[in-house]
Amino acid sequence: MLDSILNPLDLQALTFAERITAAAPGSRTIYLSMGPPQARETLIDCMSRVPGEGILLTDRAFAGADTVATAYSLACAIRRIEREILGGSREYVIVTGMQSVDGDTAQVPPQIAEELGIEHIAYAQGIDVGPELHIRRIGPQGTETVRPLKYPVLVTVTACMDPLYRSFRQAREARSGVVQEWSAASVGADPARTGLAGSRTQVYRIFSPSEERSKACEFVNEPAEMIDLIKTRYRSAAHGRQAAAPESYSLEGQTPSYDGEFWVLAEREGDGIRSVSLELLGKARELAAGLGCCVGAVLPCGKAGNLPADLIAYGADCVYVIEHPLLEEFLPMPYKAAIARIVRERKPQVMLFGATPMGRELAPRVAYACGCGLTADCTKLEVGDYAKGAVNLVGILKQTRPALGGNIMATILTKDSPTQMATVRPGVFRTPARDAGRTGEVIDVKADLNEKELRVRSVAVESFASKVSIRDAEVVVAGGHGLRSKADFERYLNPLAEGLARALGANVKVGASRVAVEDGFSTHDRQVGQTGQTVQPRLYLALGISGAVQHISGMQGSEIIVAINKDPKARIFNYADYGMVGDIEAIVPGLIRELDGGQS
Ligand code: FAD
Repeated sequence: MLDSILNPLDLQALTFAERITAAAPGSRTIYLSMGPPQARETLIDCMSRVPGEGILLTDRAFAGADTVATAYSLACAIRRIEREILGGSREYVIVTGMQSVDGDTAQVPPQIAEELGIEHIAYAQGIDVGPELHIRRIGPQGTETVRPLKYPVLVTVTACMDPLYRSFRQAREARSGVVQEWSAASVGADPARTGLAGSRTQVYRIFSPSEERSKACEFVNEPAEMIDLIKTRYRSAAHGRQAAAPESYSLEGQTPSYDGEFWVLAEREGDGIRSVSLELLGKARELAAGLGCCVGAVLPCGKAGNLPADLIAYGADCVYVIEHPLLEEFLPMPYKAAIARIVRERKPQVMLFGATPMGRELAPRVAYACGCGLTADCTKLEVGDYAKGAVNLVGILKQTRPALGGNIMATILTKDSPTQMATVRPGVFRTPARDAGRTGEVIDVKADLNEKELRVRSVAVESFASKVSIRDAEVVVAGGHGLRSKADFERYLNPLAEGLARALGANVKVGASRVAVEDGFSTHDRQVGQTGQTVQPRLYLALGISGAVQHISGMQGSEIIVAINKDPKARIFNYADYGMVGDIEAIVPGLIRELDGGQS
C-alpha cells in the first residue's frame, strides 16, 4: 500500500487560502477531501500547516468515480458545510489545487463550480487582499486581475506560491484535532450520481506508451553521413504539415450508436481562429467521414466578421455563430450558458475543445451542464466499435490520453452521455489545408445572456509577452540534461539550428527537455513534452535527451527523428529514425562543419 501524500498543487492552494483567512479576522479554514480512510492523514497534514477543521468524505459508494461523479459528491459535501458549519452563510471562498497529480485532468474544480452554480476563477497565481479581493490569474489573453462580484466563488491555484511548513507544535495539535468522516448518505448524495454509477466515462484500455510507436533506429557513425541522410530525407518528406489522408472507418451496414454532427469549439485569437481549433476541424472531418456525418464549428463572439468563412475554408460544413456583447471576451459563465444551450438543443454526437486555458476551463463546465463525460488532453482520437457482454457500441469515439504522469496511456469511452466530449492539446493534430472554395452554412444562434448575472469582473489584463512559438517550426533542435550547462546548450544548439536553417531553407527553432528548462539552460516556452508544447515538425533532433515518456508524448508525431546520446540504450533511440551514439562535444561540431560545407 502506498502512503497518502498531499498533492503539491493543493499545498499551493493552502498558501493561497491562508492569505485570505489571515486578512479576514474571525474567518475559519475547513479542509475537505474525498478518499479512503487513509486520506485522513492528508487532512492532518493540512491542519499541521494552518489550523482548521477536517472533513473526510469517505464511502465505498464513491469508488470508481470519474470527474463528474467526484465533482458531484464534493459539491454535496460543500452544501452540507454551508448549511451546518457556516450556518447558511454564502460568504466563503473554495480554494483547490489546479489538478490532481494522478488524473491531472483539471476537470473536478470547474465541475464542482458548475454543480453549485458559482463562478470559477482558474489558474490563480496571486492574490491581493485589500478592501476587495483581487485575484491574479492566467487568462486566455494574458495575466488578468479579476474581482469576484458574488460569493461563494471557487478558485483553482496554479504553482508559484511559497509552501507553508509544519511546525512541531501545530503537528501535535492537528493530531488531536477534529476530522469528521461523512458518508454519501450523510451529504444527501444521490446514489445514481456517485461512484461508477454516476460516472460518464469508462476506461476501455490501458497500455504502455512504448506500444504507441517504436522504430528501428538506423545508427550512423560519421557526421557527414548523418547530414546527408537528414538532407535527403527532409527533402523527400511526404506531407509536410498538412493533414494526413483520412483513416478509413466504415460502418459496413451497421447502425451507429450515436447520431448527429461532429462539433469543434472555435476559439478566437486576435482577429483570427486559434490554430488548435483548425487542427480539430481537420481531425473532426477525418472522423466524421467514416460515419458520413457533417462537421460543425461553434463560434461564440462579439462580432463574427469573416471568421465563419475561415472556419468553412478549414473544413466546417456549418458554423453556429453565437454573437453577443458578453461573448466578446471569454467569461466562463456566459460562454458555458451559450454553448451548453445549443449543445442540448442540437445534440451533436461529438464536441471537441482545444486544451488551452480557455478550453480546459470551459469544456468541463459545458460537459457537466449537458450531462456528458469529458476526456482531457487526448493525444489520439479514433472512431471504432466496442463490444463486451450485452454492450455493443458502433462507431463511437475512442479517446486516448496519457495518465499517471504519462507513465501509462488510457483509451477512454464516453458512457450514458448524449454527446462524446474531449479536449486535445495544441499541436497534436495537423492543420488541414485551407480551401477557400469550400462552401458551408452559417447559422445564427440566439444567446440569452444578462449582464446582471456576471459574477466576476476583469479589473486589468496584461497581454502575454510575445513568447517563442516552437509549434510552427519545420525543424526543432532540442537539448536535454546531457548538454550540462546553459553555455554548452547555446554553444552547440544555436549554430546547429542556424546551420540546418541555411542548409534546409527551413524555419528552425531550439527546444528543450523539462530537465534542461529546470536547470536554466532554456525557457519554459521552449519545453517539449507533456507539461510543455506538443510539436510535430518535419525534423526533430534530440540531443542529450534520454526519451522519458513525458518528453516523447510531446514530439513523437515528428516526421523524422534524429537522436544523439552517449548511452546506446537510451530510450530515445526507440523512437528515432537515425541515431548517433557518442558525446555531444565530439559529434555536434562535426555536424555544424558539415552543414557549413554543404552550403559552400
Ligand atoms: P535525463 O533523463 O537526465 O537524460 C539526459 C540524457 O543525456 C541521458 O540519456 C544521457 O545518456 C545523455 N547524456 C549525458 N551526457 C551526454 C553527453 N555528453 N553527450 C551525449 N549524451 C549525453 N520532461 C520533458 O522533457 N517534458 C515534459 O513536458 C515533461 N513533463 C513531465 C510531467 C510529469 C508529470 C513528470 C513526472 C515528468 C515530466 N518530465 C517532462 C520529466 C521527464 O520525466 C524526464 O525527467 C525528462 O524528460 C528528462 O530530461 P532529459 O532527457 O533532458 O534528462
